Amino acid sequence: MAKNTQFYINGAWVDPAVANTFDVINPSDEEVCATISLGGQADTDAAVAAAKAAFPSWSQTSKADRLALLKKLLEVYKSRAEEMAQAMSMEMGAPIDMSRANQTGAGSWHLEGFIKAFEGFEFDRDYTATEKTLLEPIGVCALITPWNWPMNQIVLKAVPAIATGCTVVLKPSEIAPLSGLLFAEFMHEAGFPAGVFNMVNGDGVGVGSQLSVHPDVDMVSFTGSSRAGILISKAAADTLKRVSLELGGKGANILFADAGEKAMTYSADRCFRNTGQSCNAPTRLLVERSIYDQAVEVVAQRAKDTHVGPASDEGKHIGPVVSEAQFDKIQGLIQVGIDEGAKLVAGGTGRPDGLNRGYYVKPTVFADVNNQMEIARTEIFGPVLAVIPFDTEEEAIEIANDTPYGLTNYIQTPDDEKRRRVARQLRSGMVETNGQGFAQGSPFGGYKQSGNGREGGLYGLEEFLEVKAVSGWTKA
Ligand code: NAD
Repeated sequence: MAKNTQFYINGAWVDPAVANTFDVINPSDEEVCATISLGGQADTDAAVAAAKAAFPSWSQTSKADRLALLKKLLEVYKSRAEEMAQAMSMEMGAPIDMSRANQTGAGSWHLEGFIKAFEGFEFDRDYTATEKTLLEPIGVCALITPWNWPMNQIVLKAVPAIATGCTVVLKPSEIAPLSGLLFAEFMHEAGFPAGVFNMVNGDGVGVGSQLSVHPDVDMVSFTGSSRAGILISKAAADTLKRVSLELGGKGANILFADAGEKAMTYSADRCFRNTGQSCNAPTRLLVERSIYDQAVEVVAQRAKDTHVGPASDEGKHIGPVVSEAQFDKIQGLIQVGIDEGAKLVAGGTGRPDGLNRGYYVKPTVFADVNNQMEIARTEIFGPVLAVIPFDTEEEAIEIANDTPYGLTNYIQTPDDEKRRRVARQLRSGMVETNGQGFAQGSPFGGYKQSGNGREGGLYGLEEFLEVKAVSGWTKA
């Protein structure tokens, strides 16, 4: 059993080179729930050196050997799923039922998706009758992950990197590091060779930056804020390493007049899910004018009916937001919405009644929002919905695309032609329509300032590969 203050380097749990502890806060009650270490340069160097040393042999292992280890990992993950659900629920406030089903479930679901995609994956491809294209692992990969969907993000990076023959150093979010520690235990239990997977806890300015500039790191795969994505890209530029970015979003959800009331309640629920802390949350609800008043009423009522409570409560509800910093940021942005003249129809500043401790936010709805207002432009990352009216299909598309982000947009209409026509015109990596979730292994990622890579399944595997063309593979 690992100690929370240790790192996993070269197949062993080790103490940090220099002690530097950091308290993990349970957002449901604001109490310290664990203490980790923040690594420094010596720890980063040790982890990168272990990954570099393991790369030559790991990259030459057979696909069958790697598949067997991934299947073993899935077995371990499933057998210890309850530990994982409890860890995430405590560290970032996901309600326990949701943590089991969605937060923990996302990890095993993506792992299964990668196993399926990898089974049929061809590293050697014929280009012409005499020329081969060889896909080869890029090398040592630094994986830097956020706190909002911890296991989703870690699995989406660590599994394809390792499957394709790369070796990795994971730096989980220091705000929610317990799931990452547990995942390192799973990797150890599954039996991956020493150095293939390494994990160092730390913050962005420390281990995060050290990995980004490290000359022996070939690629950084990052999920988090656009702010950090820019800093990492600049830091990585001097060594010209590959940088894959999954960043923020400000998704539009276009509700056409024929969508129906169910689509309205779905739209509110989808925004408040995970307490609004999802990069792909549909936070701008664009409503066709003829149903606007009804939609505002329905989503406002849904917000008022959304129960907020501690993560340990069973049943359907939303938990706190992750930290005091996030709580303060969200409160500030709700106030900005009020000050810039949006109409507050549910929620507002302050905690919900009866909740005095913990980072709880009232599910909030602003109506009559203009797309130029700050609450329509900034990623709030809390349960705050901005409702914007539109008159024509063209106007809806224009508003939806008028954002620096381009992660996920949403469309609600039973009209097949209209849905497809609009989906083609939305500038985003994903368009979710009529509440239909994406299939296992679908490519996840963004256009514009939402990032530049794709995760999951086949596309996710290809992210970690170099492409080599070899002529004369067979005689002409
Ligand atoms: P964050 O950017 O503050 O931190 C993410 C990770 O980056 C953490 O591990 C952090 O320690 C590290 N980090 C911070 N600054 C760094 C730096 N200068 N150099 C290297 N590493 C650094 O983001 P967060 O608050 O943890 O997560 C929320 C953000 O993540 C939101 O903007 C959200 O939209 C985004 N997100 C995107 C996706 C996606 O796939 N597009 C998924 C989940 C979350």
